[in-house]
Amino acid sequence: MPQKICRITNLWSQCNWQKNETVSRVIIESTQLFPYQIDYLNQKKVVFNILSARANMAPQTIEVSDGLIDKIIIQQLVNDVVSVDIYLNYPMPGKISFRPGVPTKTILSFDRLFIQHLFQNKIIALDPGHGGNDYGGRGPVSLIEKDVVFTMTKKLQDLLEQNKAQVLLTRETDQNVPLAHRFLLAKKFTANVFISFHVYHSNNPKVSGLALKYNPQAENNFYLAQYVYTELARKIKRPLRGIKVDPQLCYLENIPGIMVEPVVISNWTEEGLLRNPTFYEKIAFGVFNGLRKFFSN
Ligand SMILES: [Zn+2]
Repeated sequence: MPQKICRITNLWSQCNWQKNETVSRVIIESTQLFPYQIDYLNQKKVVFNILSARANMAPQTIEVSDGLIDKIIIQQLVNDVVSVDIYLNYPMPGKISFRPGVPTKTILSFDRLFIQHLFQNKIIALDPGHGGNDYGGRGPVSLIEKDVVFTMTKKLQDLLEQNKAQVLLTRETDQNVPLAHRFLLAKKFTANVFISFHVYHSNNPKVSGLALKYNPQAENNFYLAQYVYTELARKIKRPLRGIKVDPQLCYLENIPGIMVEPVVISNWTEEGLLRNPTFYEKIAFGVFNGLRKFFSN
């Protein structure tokens, strides 16, 4: 039977936390339904081959790093096969569903329950630096530190709560909370982790990039610092300014604590990034992925 060749027009991924459903999805858009083969190689690599199809896009690697899906590689093979390789962080079978229409959507869903279990009983103290009459650093155009770190905190809070973690905030509004009170909150509720957000400021406008400090007193804290630093670097793709010990964080005693400076607000480019809502999402997912690694080890 003669068949019109199917065109793969788009491929993207998203997390869905609605109702009882908590999944990572890969959505493939095409001009019509297609025959396919699916293989689970060592369960962490899913090979989805679309038959009788051609990809409209160039071969590419899509970095997802949403906690479950690490990356997706799409490429055109010979004989009208389009291969979609999905790399997972944890072995997880997928479910396939179809939505006919223009475009036709083929959806592969992977259950995120395992990740929720990792976060379920965790208490995480989030600390947006500065506040009130303490503005923190200022960008060359108009942004101020106390506001941008608050946005970072709220984004991460949403992501953590969607994954069933319990979040404590050291400040809920634009107020100046003494440093000691911030640490005390984490201690009072015996938080599993304390995360403080700041941005760096330099008189040299060329200085840019990611830095992280940690509490040298808490056992394993260096690993937490390394995981978050590495995952954040992967997500936000900024220059690296290094990991250091922060003696102030010793007030947390045995609670692992980190101070994250994703960017330098005095740098023009990085102040620009701080105007983009997507950038805050990247920061949230980067920190989230570091925590996920810390909790799963
Ligand atoms: Zn600061």
